[in-house]
Amino acid sequence: MNYSVQIYFQKANTQRSLIQRWSMLFVVALLLISYPVDSFAQRGSKIRTVVIDPGHGGKDPGAVDKRSKEKDIVLDVALRTGNYIKQYLPDVKVIYTRTKDEFVELHRRAAIANQNNADVFISIHCNSVRASSVYGAETFVMGDHRSQANLEVAKLENAAILYEENADDEYGGFDPNSTAAYIALSLYQSEYKSQSIQLAQKIQEQFTTRVGRKDRSVQQAGFLVLYRTTMPSVLVELGFISNPSEKAFLLSEEGQVYMASAIYRAFKEFKLAYERENSLPPQLTDEQRAILAPDIPAEKTSTTKTPDPKPAKDKVIYRVQFLTSPRELASTDQRLKGISELFSYEHNGLHKYTSGAFETQQAAQRHQAALKQQGFKDAFVVAFYQSKRISNEEARKLTNP
Ligand SMILES: [Zn+2]
Repeated sequence: MNYSVQIYFQKANTQRSLIQRWSMLFVVALLLISYPVDSFAQRGSKIRTVVIDPGHGGKDPGAVDKRSKEKDIVLDVALRTGNYIKQYLPDVKVIYTRTKDEFVELHRRAAIANQNNADVFISIHCNSVRASSVYGAETFVMGDHRSQANLEVAKLENAAILYEENADDEYGGFDPNSTAAYIALSLYQSEYKSQSIQLAQKIQEQFTTRVGRKDRSVQQAGFLVLYRTTMPSVLVELGFISNPSEKAFLLSEEGQVYMASAIYRAFKEFKLAYERENSLPPQLTDEQRAILAPDIPAEKTSTTKTPDPKPAKDKVIYRVQFLTSPRELASTDQRLKGISELFSYEHNGLHKYTSGAFETQQAAQRHQAALKQQGFKDAFVVAFYQSKRISNEEARKLTNP
């Protein structure tokens, strides 16, 4: 990241009044809370589309050094990764956010993934810090930063919006250098967090065991490019170009080939595991069913689907989704025990389970907190209209026309 840009913004910051900054934070918080957690794309049990996002580009060089720029290294690794996927996984469509040295706004990168109903989003970057002794590869998922170092990485990557013409409008005045702004980002809940972590772990495993990179492990922080995507999403930091030997490795063709093939292999493993997990149960004989009962319902049209407890036709109803399963769960399933106002719906072969039915998002959020206390850590609020799942954004438009 360009330090002069950063310093300019720090100066500008001190001139802003505290009230202005807090009101901006409020806007960002609202923006984040109302952002759809799921585009409800044509998502099914197979991974068909991956969006590969080479960081920075054009007027934004990313991390820079005398003879190297982050934007060039990551473009090379991204294109190689995509080529491996195209070559060895021909059933997967590869889409890049850029294929040449051009500037692409962060919100547009996420929009490319959402509009193409991507199943996986992989953003590729290089790191840079003042201390040249620091090195290693790490993979981020969207989440609450637990260390200053992780916050700094997010600040550097989010600072890409300082090159955008319309950043104030696009990100609700989000200031990538203000630590307070990241409090709002930490409120973010993603339906895909555990899947994102699984992919990130596979990437780190490949980097360390197959390429011999130092493992800086899976990390979390608030990245603008990740918070807008509605599918499993990771941000890879290949290594530090501020470290001389790591920089030499990342600039070499060998290094780029190794890193790209590591990401490809991790993606392939993730795809295979995901598809295994989400494949529909095989046709069973009555005997096999009897052995496996009660986990697998005897009939596809099983009666475990609880009727909508409050079938309000013309109102938005908020529920709290706490469980997703590739198989329909029996009503006696332990995980559904003691759940109030249980409601389930099916989407692309996945069965999703919710609890409660509320007319306001606030009431649903209170119920969400209670479910989290019960151990459903990934519980989140979903909206329905006329018995159909809608995005939170649509719900907001319907309730405040
Ligand atoms: Zn970057």
